[in-house]
Amino acid sequence: MQVKAVKFGGTSLADAGQFRKVYDIVKSDPTRRFVVASAPGKRFGEDTKVTDMLYACYDMAAAGLDFSAFFAGICARFEAIVDGLGLDIDLSPDYEEIISALMHGAGRDYAASRGEYLAAKILAAYLGFDFIDAADVVFFRDDGSFDDVQTYPNFASVLRGHDYAVIPGFYGVMPNGTIKTFSRGGSDITGAIVARAADADIYENWTDVSGFLMADPRLIPSPLPIKTVTYRELRELSYMGAGVLHEDSVFPVRSAGIPINIRNTNEPDNPGTMIVSGTDCVDNEHIITGIAGRKNFSVIRIEKDRMAYHRGFLRRIFEVLDLNGINVDHIPSGIDTISVIVHSDELTGKYDILRESLVSSIKPDYLEIKDGLALIAVVGRGMVGKPGVASRIFDAVAAAHVNVRMMDQGLGELNVIVGVDEADFETALRAIYDAFVKQDSNAL
Ligand code: ADP
Ligand code: ASP
Ligand code: MG
Repeated sequence: MQVKAVKFGGTSLADAGQFRKVYDIVKSDPTRRFVVASAPGKRFGEDTKVTDMLYACYDMAAAGLDFSAFFAGICARFEAIVDGLGLDIDLSPDYEEIISALMHGAGRDYAASRGEYLAAKILAAYLGFDFIDAADVVFFRDDGSFDDVQTYPNFASVLRGHDYAVIPGFYGVMPNGTIKTFSRGGSDITGAIVARAADADIYENWTDVSGFLMADPRLIPSPLPIKTVTYRELRELSYMGAGVLHEDSVFPVRSAGIPINIRNTNEPDNPGTMIVSGTDCVDNEHIITGIAGRKNFSVIRIEKDRMAYHRGFLRRIFEVLDLNGINVDHIPSGIDTISVIVHSDELTGKYDILRESLVSSIKPDYLEIKDGLALIAVVGRGMVGKPGVASRIFDAVAAAHVNVRMMDQGLGELNVIVGVDEADFETALRAIYDAFVKQDSNAL
């Protein structure tokens, strides 16, 4: 029999009504055997995700404040779901345990993980599936990285003992037994790990949009859906802010050749987006597959005459960055200039020391560190070997009166990164989207 690993995101489990939709989806296909649950998310625009409520609760506990009234608000969200579904389960021992753990110094990750833990318990009871605690099957190493070597064989053997099960997303366990979470949105990664451990035929990721869209629907009204996207395109888009799927969800499934299908819990008949490896991939309707972007980047601009002849010049720049714990995103360069683009958060509290260290190490002719850069990634397997794509991007941005501060194209030609002032971000994004999607893309 086929096996499907299915993950439901926060909006899909936000209240009892959403749980009912999840029930119908899971029960309509007996091969949907392993279900990963997120913590209840937003029920409406101004609502707070349970995970954020739990972080706030942890902060109160850590500050020695009385968090009982606040925690009662979290319990109320879960109780409303239990009551709304007419379930006969008592979560009060779990609530007591969480309160006690928080009072006795439990960690931030433990606190955050309880949203997934409780949601998965409720979902397991509602579906009549077994509950498998992620703390028993998802392992991290001492350095905080996901331990695939320990996880997959153990998890696979545990899954063999269950026909149907619900597993909480987002967290696992450290070698010392404490709970650790992935970064935000990490239930997507758990879903991929479950798919891999179950040797699933497909990983269905159920969310609140009908698949991967060509742009963020919060920035472009009703962007076109993407029918098929490759793992590599998806990585580029997710990394650059297409938040529909955590960028690291690709790794567990890619090497096993398990496709991901993004689906909409609120529109279950829509086939959504298939994420596949390059080779099985059908042609795209448009030259570009999608656009994504993010604000909050900084540029470290370095000029030095005859840079290429100063042996070790680049090595010294990267040594300084490394010593200061700064990760690099992009490195566009010219003959006598190099720009290092980093997330602005990486520089917090480090501007002066970075400037001083660079000056003493590489003695640049000119050095500038400037914040306020937004990056837009134009991604598409259809761009490879097509002349005129970059000029089309430039024309679109120029016609919208936006100045391009930097441009970078990877050698694989799968993406073009355009840097603009943060104030121009939305305008530039719309201009590029319109140029490739609204206008006739056969013009090239
Ligand atoms: P879940 O809670 O199901 O994990 P997320 O909120 O993490 O869902 O991701 C879904 C959201 O991602 C959508 O509601 C949408 O606002 C946002 N999003 C950003 N970029 C895109 C995109 N290119 N396509 C679809 N959704 C996107
Ligand atoms: N609940 C976690 C978060 O809000 C994980 C997830 O939703 O994937 O980030
Ligand atoms: Mg998500």
